[in-house]
Amino acid sequence: MTTHAAVAASAEVKKAIPALAELAGNIGDRQVRNRGTIGGSLANNDPAACYPAAVLGLGATVTTDRRSIPADQFFKGLYETALAEGEIITSVSFPIPEKAGWQKFNQPASRFSIVGVFVSKGPQGVRVAVTGAGAGVMRVKALEDKLAAGWSAAACNGVRVSAEGLSTDLHGSAEYRAALIPVLAGRAVAAAG
Ligand SMILES: Cc1cc2nc3c(=O)[nH]c(=O)nc-3n(C[C@H](O)[C@H](O)[C@H](O)COP(=O)(O)OP(=O)(O)OC[C@H]3O[C@@H](n4cnc5c(N)ncnc54)[C@H](O)[C@@H]3O)c2cc1C
Repeated sequence: MTTHAAVAASAEVKKAIPALAELAGNIGDRQVRNRGTIGGSLANNDPAACYPAAVLGLGATVTTDRRSIPADQFFKGLYETALAEGEIITSVSFPIPEKAGWQKFNQPASRFSIVGVFVSKGPQGVRVAVTGAGAGVMRVKALEDKLAAGWSAAACNGVRVSAEGLSTDLHGSAEYRAALIPVLAGRAVAAAG
């Protein structure tokens, strides 16, 4: 039941994972941020939602009234998650990263991501999670490998992401989304420092 506005304003979150507070503070508009919740966003798993990128990109753990689910096992595809019928998300735990950054190329009317990229370097190594590009949030191994070899924005230059399976709609083609992924990853790394 934690609203996006509460996460964005949290001094604790801003100190521990500033990129997470920034992500929450750029979801939709004020009304959306004051009504929408992290649990609702994750359970809904909209393919263009922001929080799934942070949860997967930081290697968070989703806790429910029944069990703990690692991020890598939580998101199952278009609006689909590992949650069973009636299972309720009660908390989300984020490991504190050394570095983390978020960049969203947003659809100006709704502010949902046309493509959004969350990068982190931390206890679980380098993670790059992309939202908005396809049927659901996904990790991009080619970028993770490059950034693990050398954490710099320039490392993302020249990484080619396949457009196969990505979405085409009135906002952008699959090829356009594929081209945006390494560009936004580089900007997210630059923002992370
Ligand atoms: C105009 C507009 C713009 C938006 N822009 C963005 C954006 O830029 N980025 C972004 O990420 N999102 C965006 N959103 C989505 C928004 O952030 C909400 O998170 C989303 O609409 C879900 O609403 P909610 O969080 O109130 O969840 P609800 O609508 O209450 O719930 C969604 C689903 O999840 C289930 N659910 C809710 N809480 C839990 C829980 N704790 N455990 C298990 N199941 C649960 C509900 O039963 C329901 O099936 C936008 C929405 C609107 C309307």
